[in-house]
Amino acid sequence: MERTPARTRLTVLAGPTAVGKGTVSADIRARYPQVWLSVSATTRPPRPGEVHGVHYLFVEPEEFDQMVAAGDMLEWAVVHGRHRYGTPRGPVEAHLARGIPTLLEIDLQGARQVREAASVRGLDAQFVFLSPPSFDELVRRLVGRGTESAEERERRLRTARTELAAESEFDVTIVNDDVTHATDELARVMGVTTVTPQVA
Ligand code: 5GP
Repeated sequence: MERTPARTRLTVLAGPTAVGKGTVSADIRARYPQVWLSVSATTRPPRPGEVHGVHYLFVEPEEFDQMVAAGDMLEWAVVHGRHRYGTPRGPVEAHLARGIPTLLEIDLQGARQVREAASVRGLDAQFVFLSPPSFDELVRRLVGRGTESAEERERRLRTARTELAAESEFDVTIVNDDVTHATDELARVMGVTTVTPQVA
């Protein structure tokens, strides 16, 4: 009898702006190298220090259109009413097929689309909501990182208020009160453990 191999689980991490999704994703990649973090495509221009192919695939709007038209996006959305962001489907499916625990760090609209796509494509996906300790803390972090103009900050905070209400749609909530703790919690949810260093 043919046996269906166990499917590797796709983990989707979402949460409001400035909650620290990027920091937790970078931390899990550094401390749990067995996790593969999907590289999104975006029409947003790079910020200083951001590298094409590492932080994002920075593409022109026309190229983004082509990827969508070709069915190459697992999900995509206009985030904060401005630029488009999307998850290239091929690399996600390829990593899952190789048994590699795969993480998507995307916005709420994208997470909802992955939920739809997962049932169509037979992907085993779990949805993790990263939550701030409080709304005031979220405002403090957004102001503190200083990467957005005042107008952009207001726009993002409006979105964040709505997004905080979506927590109940998720399978798991992790409160990001401390990055190391939040990352370890995410690793536990993903079923990965730290590699114990070999003693010579
Ligand atoms: P930023 O411009 O600060 O890098 O990201 C803005 C927002 O876009 C974040 O909330 C991030 O989670 C979201 N985002 C990044 N990549 C994707 C993606 O591939 N799809 C979706 N739907 N959202 C994304």
